Amino acid sequence: MARRVKKIGRARARPALAILSRKKTLYSTRRLLEAAKARGLRTRVLDVLRCNLTLEQDNPRLYHKGKEVRGIGVALPRIGASVTQVGLSVVRQLEAMGVPVVNGAAAIARSRDKLAALQQLAAAHVPIPRTVLARAGGEVRELVAQVGGLPAILKLLQGTQGVGVMIAHSEAEVESIVGTLRDLGQELLLQEFVAESRGRDIRALVVGDRVVGAMRREARRGEFRSNLHRGGFGTPLELPREYAEAAVRAARVVGLSVAGVDLLEGRDGPKVLELNSSPGFEGLERATGLDIAGEIVGFAAVLAEGTRRAMAL
Ligand code: ADP
Ligand code: MG
Repeated sequence: MARRVKKIGRARARPALAILSRKKTLYSTRRLLEAAKARGLRTRVLDVLRCNLTLEQDNPRLYHKGKEVRGIGVALPRIGASVTQVGLSVVRQLEAMGVPVVNGAAAIARSRDKLAALQQLAAAHVPIPRTVLARAGGEVRELVAQVGGLPAILKLLQGTQGVGVMIAHSEAEVESIVGTLRDLGQELLLQEFVAESRGRDIRALVVGDRVVGAMRREARRGEFRSNLHRGGFGTPLELPREYAEAAVRAARVVGLSVAGVDLLEGRDGPKVLELNSSPGFEGLERATGLDIAGEIVGFAAVLAEGTRRAMAL
């Protein structure tokens, strides 16, 4: 009898919020768990490297540490750059299972490819810095002229935390960087150096259709990259409307409902650099004192509830 009651109880358990993350102890994961618990939500943390996927017609299933995963009401992917492919396969599986996901696999994949993301943004009239793909064999002088001259920024298509972003002060430098990377089988973006923004940028955190927090990041002395991982420093910022609109539009165009959008302050307004689909928010919460985790979890809960209602109809 006792067993039966337990079984029924389990079957009726409220759907859980699943956070896809390598570790519970990572700052952003820990804060999301705290925020979910504060709202009385059930939570689970799924390590994508411990997930197995079962593909079967009309019956996709997910296993975590050998046990089938059921009862997920919504999933929140926090996919690090080093596990992008594995992470995407798990997100796709959840989508196939009908689980609502904050940031779908297609949007995450697009945001991880700086070229693909910029192509989409430009096509949708979102302001971006002038950018060309520096394929091998191109005339360097011409490419540099196209982005407004020197110095110019060079970037790997995939990269994060400032790794893979370089500045070149001469054509010879551009040529040698492009050549070296070509030999390593890598393509590069050559980009206008937005000099007005030298050493600083804006990080805006978009959740749904609004910016829930923003900061200005300033690079440490002698560094042009303002990433906090490169020693940059964040201060809270009341975001001008033009900037908030550009950030929200950028996230919508790429299809992300949660995004850390990096913007430069150009002479004639914002220029969107890139979108981060699993933005860390330790620096932003510390700089602003805002409850970013609460905003993200609140959004996930609304998404779960909306999907549950729609299914019941
Ligand atoms: P990552 O994914 O590594 O963060 P970003 O494109 O965001 O790559 O660039 C990292 C940092 O380098 C930015 O935050 C900014 O400070 C600086 N930066 C990047 N592109 C430009 C540019 N076109 N002009 C001026 N500074 C730039
Ligand atoms: Mg960035």
